Amino acid sequence: MKQHFIIDGKKTQGSKGSFDVISPRDQSILHAMPNASEADVLDAVEAAQRAFPLWRNKGGVEKQKLFLAWADLIDANRDMIAAEVSAEMGVLKDDVAGTAAYIADMIRYYAGFIVTNYGDVLSFEDDHMNVVVNEPLGVIAAMPPWNSPIESTIQKCAPALAAGNTVVLRVPEEAPSGGLILAQLAVEAGFPAGVLNALAGMGPESGEALVGHPKVRLVSFTGSAPTGRIIARTCAEQMKPVVMELGGKSPVIIFDDARIADAIESSVSSAFCFQGQICCATTRVLVHESILDEVVKGIAERVERYALDNEEFPIGPLFNDKVFHTVEKFVAQGKKDGTLVAGGGVIERDGGGRYHQPTVFLFKDDSSVVCKEEIFGPVLAIIPFSSDEEAITIANNVDYGLAATVYSENRQRIFKTIRQLESGTVWANCNFKFNMHMPWGGPKSTGIGREFGKYAMKPYLQEKNIWIGN
Ligand code: NAD
Repeated sequence: MKQHFIIDGKKTQGSKGSFDVISPRDQSILHAMPNASEADVLDAVEAAQRAFPLWRNKGGVEKQKLFLAWADLIDANRDMIAAEVSAEMGVLKDDVAGTAAYIADMIRYYAGFIVTNYGDVLSFEDDHMNVVVNEPLGVIAAMPPWNSPIESTIQKCAPALAAGNTVVLRVPEEAPSGGLILAQLAVEAGFPAGVLNALAGMGPESGEALVGHPKVRLVSFTGSAPTGRIIARTCAEQMKPVVMELGGKSPVIIFDDARIADAIESSVSSAFCFQGQICCATTRVLVHESILDEVVKGIAERVERYALDNEEFPIGPLFNDKVFHTVEKFVAQGKKDGTLVAGGGVIERDGGGRYHQPTVFLFKDDSSVVCKEEIFGPVLAIIPFSSDEEAITIANNVDYGLAATVYSENRQRIFKTIRQLESGTVWANCNFKFNMHMPWGGPKSTGIGREFGKYAMKPYLQEKNIWIGN
């Protein structure tokens, strides 16, 4: 077996056989992966629980050194990580190598928070002192998704560990190697046994066992809203807090005074990046009716440039059959409800894999399910509007609120629109910008809490109020 779990600092194989990891490129079997049973999950939680007192009390500088050593090992193993993860995700090796460098920096960034979890002195009087200290929660369950297996792993684990918690990482079964390698590198960097444990298994089995374990004090999950709801319900029974990074249906609003070429380019490139299998893919383009024809034509021309094996405008594989069938279903619905502007078909290709043309529909309004639900594939909906108010109403008329983009040359209009958008992130006259310092997440079914930056630290700490008399 190529990969293994990390439980209590040791490599283990899991006790429920194995499952195959499938290549999105050609659907061949890449390798077998050990499958976690409920007993493996219990072992991992117990190990994390045992390690917690030691880790929380370890000196800040000592912990920082471990973080920095971990980051250095990730840098040193970037090629190996990129090879494993790119094969499982069906993306370019160079892209994963870039992400590996980014997560190494993210670990360095969170190392800074280890020694800055300051509390407050609320009063200091003759007969007492009143202070608040920030304390870790205990064992954290971290559950990243297949579409960002290494970035999301570090997004969760680095702040949770920096706050003094221990972690059980359940890697996504569809792209499991990245998270397991990162956990192995943490052990090699010198993290004490049990501080970061990692296993792979099926969601409804190992996932549910982990989420429902009473010693798990917080669940940080990234995935779809329906699965997020199942997990949140289990956690509610135990009054267990959650961090949820769920879906999106992100709009781009193109006002009549926008720089149209910029708006078209950014709408298309962010809608079809990684075949739209990105939570913040801008899958709805809202266009003022006076410029509709120009924008539709521009989007169609730009989308036609995508092709298999085109380095600049590539079409890659859809991740798996589930994604493929969802895309097919929504494309069929789009053909009924709207006008096909570009794409619309499956790409037949020798050598297996599921490939689909980037597809664009024009709708009269946003009533189609294609304009409402997250598809998580290469499908873009263009929707016209006639006033600023209508644009904002349509933008907010979905169950998600991860990111939104506005294009206009009128600053007042931009400010007014930004304030009214129900969205965790708003980009104005730019798009698809990310920074590990900035909060990430959003309202409605997009989830609960924020990741990245200092904002990610908050859920992993709890205040203790202390009165000291004389
Ligand atoms: P999914 O919800 O189908 O599965 C996610 C994970 O949940 C899988 O690993 C699965 O094993 C596990 N799971 C399934 N049932 C479970 C259960 N009962 N208990 C515990 N775990 C269970 O999502 P997906 O299709 O793998 O991922 C795509 C989704 O992730 C999209 O909706 C996307 O928007 C979202 N996402 C969001 C962000 C963000 O930052 N907001 C980032 C990446 C992906």
